[in-house]
Amino acid sequence: MTSSARLARFLPVLLLLGARPIQARYEGTLDLEAHFRRPGDTRPYHSEQRYAWNGKDRCRVDWTLWEEGDSTRSPESYLVAGDSVFYRPDPGSRWRLSTGPKARLDRLAAEAGIPGALLRDAGTRLAADTPSLDIRRGRLERLALLRAHPRLGDARDSVAYTFDGKEPVPARMLLVLHERDQQWRLRQRRVEWKEAAVPESLLRSPAAFEPGDAVETMTAEPKIVEIAPGVFAAEMEDIDSRSLIVEFADHLAVIEVALASRNGERLVDAAKRRWPSKPIRYALFSHYHPHYAGGLRAMIAEGATIVAPAGNEAFVRGVAALPFTKEPDRLAKNPRPLSLQTFSDRYELSDASNEIVAINYGSRSNHTDDFVVFWLPRSRVLFETELGWVMAGDKVRASRRAAPLLQWIDEQHLDVQRLVQSWPMRGNVPTMSRAELAALVNPPKQ
Ligand SMILES: [Zn+2]
Repeated sequence: MTSSARLARFLPVLLLLGARPIQARYEGTLDLEAHFRRPGDTRPYHSEQRYAWNGKDRCRVDWTLWEEGDSTRSPESYLVAGDSVFYRPDPGSRWRLSTGPKARLDRLAAEAGIPGALLRDAGTRLAADTPSLDIRRGRLERLALLRAHPRLGDARDSVAYTFDGKEPVPARMLLVLHERDQQWRLRQRRVEWKEAAVPESLLRSPAAFEPGDAVETMTAEPKIVEIAPGVFAAEMEDIDSRSLIVEFADHLAVIEVALASRNGERLVDAAKRRWPSKPIRYALFSHYHPHYAGGLRAMIAEGATIVAPAGNEAFVRGVAALPFTKEPDRLAKNPRPLSLQTFSDRYELSDASNEIVAINYGSRSNHTDDFVVFWLPRSRVLFETELGWVMAGDKVRASRRAAPLLQWIDEQHLDVQRLVQSWPMRGNVPTMSRAELAALVNPPKQ
């Protein structure tokens, strides 16, 4: 029997069974895969969740996550009120309406500990992601949503339960969720539960809340700015990202391809409009985090050779092999083999008109084990990300990683005149002379 047929058969019974309000508390561990040192690295967090469901269409979780040894405990909250989902990062903040793909993820999070609440939404508010359901003896045992993730392709968000006896609340749960820039697995056991009325105030829609974020379409035209002869910044204000396009005699190289295939594809299109006769022959990225490598598949689809440190070879091969069946990107529509060039310490691309030296700054970045900075000797520009400067209010200040970077530039005898930064970009200074950055690191005494 298909899931939807099963759902149709059981749904009337389930809605009746699920009519009693439930409160439940879980404890466990969340393994987070995010902006860490190596591809695939995860970090564990302790987790405590308190769920409240009114037996109908309102459900909430107050969720505390903390790292070992961390003494601050402040819950974030997710609230489902019918068609709306709200999120609040901590009790002192205002609620925010969840919109777009985030609304579905937040609904899943808000209801994950209450199978009855989730099942009510499975055939309606979660139906767009064609949920597959395992239902046994009237209880939801597993729900999986196949989603088109902009970076990962086919992503399966899921929750699975183990029950004791006939209880409506599971003894154990496993929730797997893929956010835009990070993904995680939450394993929890139930600590307590009861069927009891939930205070109405807990489930009331907030009277005032922040509007949801605009859905990222990544369709706005990148702004192309000439930085030096043959060196161009492609600025994407909407996703706070600056890529570099370097022009050679008969081709281009692109450095940093953020977030999603869709973003890489718009970069490709913008480059084609500006340089119709010059193909993108090389694509490079500083480190494996989504903001720099999330759109690499668009470059592979274009036939560009990906140039990366050997430590990122498995990562790049994995990106090339991602399944994109639900919403095919260009590489899925027109598959082509990956062309990959690895290096250990440095790699040079040069011809009569331009030159890029990719240098593995490595763990000195204090960020990832492989971390590349890009030296353009002919214009004496160093292109970096996350190492240079940030805004504090309306003032620019040096990042804590700037001093070691400047020291390394000296050790390498790089005659850097100017630094250009990929991120943070929005509202930030795009470029700074070496002397200006040095002055920010060591301000002159008054
Ligand atoms: Zn990073």
